[in-house]
Amino acid sequence: MGVNKEAYKSLLAAMQPSGATLIAVSKTKPSEDIQELYLLGQRDFGENYVQELVKKHAELAADIRWHFIGHLQSNKIKMIAPYVHLIHGVDSIKLLEAIDKEGRKLNKKINCLLQVHVAKEETKFGLDLVEARQAAAMYFLEKKYPHVSLCGIMGMASFSEDEALLRQEFGALKTLYDEIKTRYAADAGDFNTLSMGMSGDYPLALASGSNMVRVGSLLFGARG
Ligand SMILES: *Cc1c(COP(=O)(O)O)cnc(C)c1O
Repeated sequence: MGVNKEAYKSLLAAMQPSGATLIAVSKTKPSEDIQELYLLGQRDFGENYVQELVKKHAELAADIRWHFIGHLQSNKIKMIAPYVHLIHGVDSIKLLEAIDKEGRKLNKKINCLLQVHVAKEETKFGLDLVEARQAAAMYFLEKKYPHVSLCGIMGMASFSEDEALLRQEFGALKTLYDEIKTRYAADAGDFNTLSMGMSGDYPLALASGSNMVRVGSLLFGARG
């Protein structure tokens, strides 16, 4: 139980050269664990389940930046929209539309990342490369989602120890990120986040150009 402080220190050290942001993924872990890391200075936390995020948001400090990194159902957006810092898992155009609608109601822009599927596993959510380019065009060219701020891309590599495969997958995400950023350079000021890398693969992700890693089990221990 509790937080692995040594792991936290070495993670921060690994982030430092590039200035990448560490998201501490606290899903399924108690608020006490989050508080422990908060007291060490951590402010960015990631959650996968709406109900759990709602509960922890109510219990913990108001200056925590909550990242929603799971699969988000449209009917639950309103439960997190007022305060969520960044939604990483925008895995369909429909969801992007629904988030925009919620932003309109609140009269604010909601920060989002397009979740892009590059891994071999069939089960992972996400847009493919073609859909991600379409979503970017609808956002930047057609200006369809004025109550969304499109901040970048999130992706996951295969659950594998094959370094060449991981490099290839992280590379594909980085290439797409650069492509969109370059294509819409005039409007892409807020498009500056490439969220990739987890406990098992964050060094490779950072080496591949990630500027935001989402680390859970390394910090909080294995999930039951
Ligand atoms: C759970 C989760 C993580 C963290 O995974 P660990 O292997 O525990 O570091 C990162 N990203 C997403 C989307 C997750 O669901």
